[in-house]
Amino acid sequence: LDHYFQQIEIHKHLNAFNEVFFYSAAEQAKLVQQKIENGSAGKLAGMVIGIKDNISYKDHEVTASSKMLEGFISPYSATVIERLIAEDAVIIGRLNCDEFAMGGSNETSYYGPVKNAADPERVAGGSSGGSAVAVQADLCLSALGTDTGGSVRQPAAFCGCIGLKPTYGRISRYGVIAYASSFDQVGTITSSVSDAALLLEVLAGADEYDSTVSRADVPRYTASLGRPVGKKRMAVLKETLDSEALDPAIKASILKAIETFKAQGHTVDFVSFDLLDYLVPAYYVLTTAEASSNLSRYDGVHYGHRNLEAANLNDLYKQSRAEGFGDEVKTRILLGTFVLSAGYYDAYYQKAQQVRRLIREKMEALLKDYDLILTPVTPTPAFKIGENLSDPLVMYMADIFTVLASLTGIPAIAIPLGNNNEGLPLSIQLMTRHFGEEALLQISGAFL
Ligand code: GLN
Repeated sequence: LDHYFQQIEIHKHLNAFNEVFFYSAAEQAKLVQQKIENGSAGKLAGMVIGIKDNISYKDHEVTASSKMLEGFISPYSATVIERLIAEDAVIIGRLNCDEFAMGGSNETSYYGPVKNAADPERVAGGSSGGSAVAVQADLCLSALGTDTGGSVRQPAAFCGCIGLKPTYGRISRYGVIAYASSFDQVGTITSSVSDAALLLEVLAGADEYDSTVSRADVPRYTASLGRPVGKKRMAVLKETLDSEALDPAIKASILKAIETFKAQGHTVDFVSFDLLDYLVPAYYVLTTAEASSNLSRYDGVHYGHRNLEAANLNDLYKQSRAEGFGDEVKTRILLGTFVLSAGYYDAYYQKAQQVRRLIREKMEALLKDYDLILTPVTPTPAFKIGENLSDPLVMYMADIFTVLASLTGIPAIAIPLGNNNEGLPLSIQLMTRHFGEEALLQISGAFL
């Protein structure tokens, strides 16, 4: 813990932490130390973990990196936090992220952007940018993030870490600040596959407080890691590699990875996926719709920022929300309200639901023939801070490869493929069937 406290101090300029829990982490560490000495320590004893600042931890502030929740102290802990602590992890602090997890560069945070440790002029990725940089710069051993459309995988890719988004419904969302509830998943950012497996083993499984969590048994992911994976059938989605927007170094590193998979005995086919153009539009219609509904609870009355000058209730709502939310969040609330409004519901929201169903069916069919789907995680390596801010469409389009797993609920992992000649991390994404995390982790472990 002292090591990490020092590292955090040295790397303050990266802006990864919104708060370091000096006191509670030290107390927890003492407790774990005693348990280690008397032989009763849990599976995560000694693991120092940072949590994204949209996960509630009892008696600690949680802000979703928004002015709206500044100073809000959580009265209870998320299920994932309870589970970490029950296995004797030490929670070192809360990590910066895009405001309400809306963003792909960690530039929408009320607390300012997180800087990539590989090049502090570049973004960390988002929305779990603080989580990725904290692991990248050795500010904690591993981190929790949340992934609605790529927010664990994309920053992991930009920072050379391993980012796992489990199947929708594998991990409880209880106590996680909602963005788009039919997409949101807690995920992990780690520097090894075995840490990802260990964390998933602890975090996954039924929860009486979240009815969307599956009751399916949780495999012992760590036990299967070293075992032979057998020969898998892999499919590369051709259009993702042919895409003009794809950075040549990413493409080259993926082609090289494919050769490694083949050398390991797997078969790799290039298959066509003709729905690529529909992914980003469907994702942004549906997630903004859900977000506009989820964020209606921040009204300045129940909790959150309150304007004290308002003359009447309506003004109180308006002014509190106008002051509490940042521009990106407002944009999305407006978009979401628009696509749900009476005149446009059929044309946008309902249409997007239909497209989501189509995409899901297509992926399920593909996953009957193939065990794994391979794509890039991102079109480019980490871009410069400010570079994409003026054009939201450019920013949204950068989610093209990650939202596929989010729209369909399947698990996906981002694994590092070394650096380009500027020292910026490159990576590949592996996806598989619902609840197929075991294979995903095994193959990643054998590859790295
Ligand atoms: N960049 C995507 C978005 O802004 C993903 C965010 C996320 O996964 N939380 O919606």
